[in-house]
Amino acid sequence: MQPEDAKNEAKKISDWIIDIRRELHKYPELMYEEVKTSALVRRELDKLGIQYHSPIAETGVLASIGNGKGPCVALRADMDALPIHEETDVPFRSKVDGKMHACGHDCHTAMLLGAARILKSKENDFNGTIKFLFQPAEEGGAGGKLMRDEGALENPDVERIFGLHVWPQMPTGQIGSREGTFLAATSFLDLTIKGVGGHAAVPHLTKDPVLTSAQIITNLQSIISRELDPLDSGVVSISAIHAGQAANVIPSEVKILGTIRSLTMEGLKKLQRRVKEICESVAKAHGCKAIIDYPGNDYPPTVNDGEMWQFAKNIGSEMLGKENVSELDAVMGGEDFAYYTEKVKGCFVVLGMNNPDIDATYSVHHPMFKADEDALHIGTALHTMFALQSLKELST
Ligand SMILES: [Zn+2]
Ligand SMILES: [Zn+2]
Repeated sequence: MQPEDAKNEAKKISDWIIDIRRELHKYPELMYEEVKTSALVRRELDKLGIQYHSPIAETGVLASIGNGKGPCVALRADMDALPIHEETDVPFRSKVDGKMHACGHDCHTAMLLGAARILKSKENDFNGTIKFLFQPAEEGGAGGKLMRDEGALENPDVERIFGLHVWPQMPTGQIGSREGTFLAATSFLDLTIKGVGGHAAVPHLTKDPVLTSAQIITNLQSIISRELDPLDSGVVSISAIHAGQAANVIPSEVKILGTIRSLTMEGLKKLQRRVKEICESVAKAHGCKAIIDYPGNDYPPTVNDGEMWQFAKNIGSEMLGKENVSELDAVMGGEDFAYYTEKVKGCFVVLGMNNPDIDATYSVHHPMFKADEDALHIGTALHTMFALQSLKELST
């Protein structure tokens, strides 16, 4: 099968892919709660006669087709939604208040099912095994790590893995990625500043955590501007502050949330260390105490194998035209696809979804995020070719 054929095959089942995507979109589920989503994936796999192992990684599904032996290639989709209240006017908008598929993982799951459908129909035409990883909890829960640790990349051993992500910054019909580090190492920051509260009219009898927080937040910004090599990349963002309720009361504590990012794990650890030191020492200078935690999982950077990006680029160029495949700069967003490429060669590719005609211009994680469904069959076709072409190369 050639890339053009894969695109035509995928186009033929485009309505089916879109229907699945819309069903998923209506019922978004947060990390490790993907019960209905997982059931839908299994329902469709059953209909297609595709075998799977489930549960894996709590709510994940690991499907496979082929002869059960090597060579083996894996394709991955994530299934979780976000705690965002959808504000779009699409007829299939989220039916669950406060939850939304705002990162397009509904698209990823539907596109991968599309590829499973096409590849199952070609099962006699290839040698080896294709694994389909439907994983939970990408949005901070490190579902990818759990899938990996529970053996998704073994028996038979996966030699290559590919993942796609919808990309609203790029027009429909285009793809992009890069060799080496593509996405950042990420960490969450949870900070509590404890002081002594009291009447706002007698500040000398308090230890004011609000003023202390302001000093800390300002000081943290000097890490990136003064301590990091200007040619390196790093982020320290404070994104939530909660304290106090009354105009005449100094509260006893302030809660702060944020995120830290770097393009290397060493860089991330260094930023974490400096954030801790600055928070503790500034708090101490004001008679307060800083309690710092980096909760959850520190995601490693997503590093693409150079050969695998070249491989994906060749397929993309044949399918979409050379002018529609872009070399991108690294991005400070994070991805738990990183856990797979720590173990096997792979490439994470972004799929253009921008279409101003239907208002599909908002970034992922925005309550107005819309995906251009005309791009879904392209994702299915790319997955299909990544698998078939890989097995062909690995078999020779
Ligand atoms: Zn996301
Ligand atoms: Zn995502």
